[in-house]
Amino acid sequence: MNRNFLAGASAAELKTFLTQQGQPAFRAKQILDWICQKQVLDPEEMKNRPAPLRAALKEAFYAPSCRVAERAVSARDEVVKLRLELFDKESVELVVIPAGERLTLCLSTQVGCPVGCRFCASGVNGLVRNLKAGEIIEEFLTGCAEAGRKCDNIVFMGIGEGLMNFEELSRALDILTSPEYFNMSPRRITVSTSGFVPGILKLAALEKEFTLAISLHAPDDETRAGIIPDKVRYPIAEILRAADICRDRTGRLYTLEYTLLAGINDSVAQAEALGHLARAHRAKINLIPYNETDSVFKRPSREAIEAFERAAAATGATVTRRVERGAKSAAACGQLRVNAMKKESAQ
Ligand code: SF4
Repeated sequence: MNRNFLAGASAAELKTFLTQQGQPAFRAKQILDWICQKQVLDPEEMKNRPAPLRAALKEAFYAPSCRVAERAVSARDEVVKLRLELFDKESVELVVIPAGERLTLCLSTQVGCPVGCRFCASGVNGLVRNLKAGEIIEEFLTGCAEAGRKCDNIVFMGIGEGLMNFEELSRALDILTSPEYFNMSPRRITVSTSGFVPGILKLAALEKEFTLAISLHAPDDETRAGIIPDKVRYPIAEILRAADICRDRTGRLYTLEYTLLAGINDSVAQAEALGHLARAHRAKINLIPYNETDSVFKRPSREAIEAFERAAAATGATVTRRVERGAKSAAACGQLRVNAMKKESAQ
């Protein structure tokens, strides 16, 4: 790959390109305005730019580098899950979540995932590659185009462990929040992690008000070991120590994400232990009843979910339950990509 992504290009890169083309450097700002203000990435559509410059941009950069290969639309709540085919034919997923006037996008950071949580389709076959910052920005632009409006919130909870792709993720965060580019408030961006401690500390060091979400899934290390494989799993105490540092450096309380799996982590005693942990760390709890796929895990009954929620809340912790939205056939993270991989290998 020797072309860069226009979506992640800096003003300095564009100026160098323009100088090479014999064009005035001030056009860099005009190109960035097309991308960031008008949210137009394809040079063909930048109609007030000279035709040779549009052709040269198209030649020098991926613009765009991906296409929507599949769409799963939920008639119930208008949530759209998109499978994006990347320039090298790999895929990631992006979820477009409208809620009234607001739009939230759930973005991926890697092709596949190195963590391989046992309940998650995204980790099947491990990590293929990291996404570049420009590809992450293209996901963002694709989501906005799909919804036909600007985005209010971003959650990095799609495919991948974003904090293991820190350089590209932080560059994307920079582009999204910089006044020169998309000017989003860091407060409107949540970065989720399976508990990758070095990455949490790097996020803390940015000292920006991003919200951290820790996928805890168990209140004790033993139960957690049955859900998250050893290779990148850190002890809970270490994760929460790093998360506390992040909270103190960013001024943002963090969330403990907890996927409820029947018979594994859904007992009342586990709910109480989770509640006490959350209280001790001033963290919020977000419960996610498991979306069944072909894994061995099962979703707890409605009664068990409610009993868990009550027991966790009785400790005084703040507990929410993820509103279940999205096309049922492919609601689980990574499922569209896995289905596409299966289809391809069957051909
Ligand atoms: S839940 Fe997240 S960290 Fe775990 S395998 Fe899936 S994408 Fe990776």
